[in-house]
Amino acid sequence: MPQRIQTDVKNVEAVLNEILNTKSPPVGRCRLLSSGFSPAHSLNITEDISGHKECLSCGNCIDICPFLSREPSRREKTESRTSMALESIVGEDCDQCDACILVCPQVDTTIKHYVVNHRMLEVMSRLEERLGDEDEPDIDLFLEEVLSQS
Ligand code: SF4
Ligand code: SF4
Repeated sequence: MPQRIQTDVKNVEAVLNEILNTKSPPVGRCRLLSSGFSPAHSLNITEDISGHKECLSCGNCIDICPFLSREPSRREKTESRTSMALESIVGEDCDQCDACILVCPQVDTTIKHYVVNHRMLEVMSRLEERLGDEDEPDIDLFLEEVLSQS
């Protein structure tokens, strides 16, 4: 069984950074930059789908999205659990946390590693700036509670 050759980030770095710098759910575009189904997939079908890049409608990206956890009523707008649904219900309210990329089974590991190694510091410092917002969980308070119980 041939190994899937994943996207070399060096070849797509400029467009990937463009995607990551845009205030919109990035997972669908990162999926399209990826290499698609592995020849070793375990789906019970005979058609050769290796390389196909379709969204699986697994909903992982919707479940992990912190914006939707704060605004659960947005999820009621659609039963669909695709990246397209994520884009329509989050849109420009995207936190740019990149979590949806990391949980998508159709995004290449090479792209996930790039995000973790090159973007997470920026993401965390952006989130840190928001600590204290009344809409955000108070992490300092949470830590104090944990420490006082230990
Ligand atoms: S907030 Fe995070 S998880 Fe939600 S769409 Fe934006 S990047 Fe993806
Ligand atoms: S996480 Fe699932 S639903 Fe979201 S884009 Fe990837 S395959 Fe599609």
